[in-house]
Amino acid sequence: MSLDRQAFLRYSRHLLMADVGEEGQELLLGARVLVVGLGGLGCPVALYLAAAGVGHLTLCDPDKVDLTNLQRQVLYKASDCGEPKVDCALRELKALNSSVTYTAYAAAVDDGVLPATATDFDVVVDCTDNLAARHWLNRRCHSLAIPLVSGAAMGWEGQLMTLDFSASKTPCLACAIPEGAAEPIANCGNSGVIGPLLGVMGSMEAISVIRLLLGRANPDRFAASGKLQRFDARREQWSSFAIPSRKGCSVCG
Ligand SMILES: [Zn+2]
Repeated sequence: MSLDRQAFLRYSRHLLMADVGEEGQELLLGARVLVVGLGGLGCPVALYLAAAGVGHLTLCDPDKVDLTNLQRQVLYKASDCGEPKVDCALRELKALNSSVTYTAYAAAVDDGVLPATATDFDVVVDCTDNLAARHWLNRRCHSLAIPLVSGAAMGWEGQLMTLDFSASKTPCLACAIPEGAAEPIANCGNSGVIGPLLGVMGSMEAISVIRLLLGRANPDRFAASGKLQRFDARREQWSSFAIPSRKGCSVCG
């Protein structure tokens, strides 16, 4: 595969980078990424991955656009209220980059989207808003050995985990938060979130995806996994912790 003139222009700012270049762009163009959730995190993730030329994007969200979403979910317009998020997202993403192949499910993630036995995805991006879905994705991606990028945000604080389950001895979400733990009482729906924080954390998730995809050719240059990163937007502080693998973890132990 070689890039045509349009692709050369569109991705020129990648091609100029020594550690991306045409080889890296080809990796992106051939990649298959599943984005689970098209809310505050999923919107910037899908926009940046489509813009980057990730060749096959699968989107999954059961919800319809609501007026309360517009404070932070940057794919949607006021006129979209009441429409399925996947439909509105597809319209915008196709207008941005029609050379990407899109698949959409107006449903929550399940066996139909991400089967237990085999997968077509190179990376899964968790942009969901609940712990049960996060744990389901963690367990499924671990068993399929697919890298999982997991983001979360509430109030002024965001979190990001990049778990490359294609590498051995990668800790998992359940090492940090055991399965079966109660859903946090506070969530964005009852406690709020500052809108641009979702842009920061969603952009970080998109960067992690691009790094994982480019790392397939250059694993030494783009390695980063098993870390929990926290961003405190009120104090403008990032902190990073290694997630220790937990002995007896119900998923990876
Ligand atoms: Zn674990």
